[in-house]
Amino acid sequence: MTGAEARSRERGGALPLALAVAFLLLLAASAVLVVGGAHVAAARAQTAADLAAVSGARALVQAVGRAERRGGVGRAAARAARAAAQGSGGRISRLHVSSPDLPPAVEVAVRVPGPLGLAAIARARAGLAPPPSDDPGPRGWASGGGYSGPLVYRDGKPTCPAVAAAFDGMDRAARALGVDLVVTSGFRSDAEQARLFRRHPDPRWVAPPGSSRHRDATELDISTGGGAGAWLRAHGREHGFVQRYAWEPWHWGHIAGCGQRPTTGGGAGGRSVPAWVPGAYRGLIAASARRERLSPWLLAALLRVESGFDPRAVSPAGARGIAQLMPATAGGLGVSDPFDPRQAIPAAGRLLADHLRAFGTPRLALAAYNAGAGAVRRHGGVPPYRETRAYVAAVLAAAGDLGPQSGDVVLLPLGRAMSGASPI
Ligand SMILES: [Zn+2]
Repeated sequence: MTGAEARSRERGGALPLALAVAFLLLLAASAVLVVGGAHVAAARAQTAADLAAVSGARALVQAVGRAERRGGVGRAAARAARAAAQGSGGRISRLHVSSPDLPPAVEVAVRVPGPLGLAAIARARAGLAPPPSDDPGPRGWASGGGYSGPLVYRDGKPTCPAVAAAFDGMDRAARALGVDLVVTSGFRSDAEQARLFRRHPDPRWVAPPGSSRHRDATELDISTGGGAGAWLRAHGREHGFVQRYAWEPWHWGHIAGCGQRPTTGGGAGGRSVPAWVPGAYRGLIAASARRERLSPWLLAALLRVESGFDPRAVSPAGARGIAQLMPATAGGLGVSDPFDPRQAIPAAGRLLADHLRAFGTPRLALAAYNAGAGAVRRHGGVPPYRETRAYVAAVLAAAGDLGPQSGDVVLLPLGRAMSGASPI
């Protein structure tokens, strides 16, 4: 073989080799691009699904709050979820809205276009944060003090919704300046105040029971560390809070109070019935709540979750009417026609008041209304039935107690497969 021949053969052999290497490199590069693109698409799909679920759930909670008809509630949630999915480059392929007697939740599957015409699909579910199921104490409804009505929690301490909202605004303003406001005490019933006073029987530090302003749910003790004390003195007033006592730099009162919120019994007229109650039932609910010394909010929320205020409602289990009384329960309460709201609403009020007296807290009373008093006694608390837990959470949410996470809509674990559910 001559040198020229060899060079020619080398060239001839080198060309296909270079092509093969280039081809392999190209293949690897596009594989990286495809895999990378798929990852990006998957992440975008998850973001789109999360946003769609949260937007849908927010719309759902608002629609439920306005007591819209069932169809309207679902459509509002679907519209909001679709818009959110589109806004993040996705399209809803499935959407499911929780049935009316469960806590509001929206579950979606969202498609986002990916590389090579393949779509990435992600699922998400959002709804009201559920109350902690292992919490045994009274929660969510203040009683036995100056304030009686829904409680919401800030840093785990109860206060009324109006004060919590004012605190949130103040907290945001402080955080913008790097100051953390931490609530160390809020509403205290007279009994809790009495216990505190027994431990520290010095009226200069602990107000005697019945005279502490903490019973009004308007007062927050706020930790003064980390610059919070100085910040509060400079800015507390702008947010409607005053330092009540010169010798308690941590104790701040909300001047506007808790607003017009429900009271138990005496003096609670029709005005204290929530705005979302249909006109036909406002008088009945107000009168029944007054007679039973119940919060009209709690009774109204119960009826809303039971039947959506539909006096003709019949459940698959046979519960009837606006208060969803089982025939035996109705009979025991002297109700001859459970479809007649004039009988059913006072009976529901009586039953709920009985359960409240027996169990002491709205959570347990509602659990007894749903699952029976026997089940609550047997389980020593809210029975571990999915339906009962959902029911209690839904009623408390409707009544204004949105739980320790203040009822914001949060992402929830995915529900059961959506295929069996009724998509809308
Ligand atoms: Zn205090």
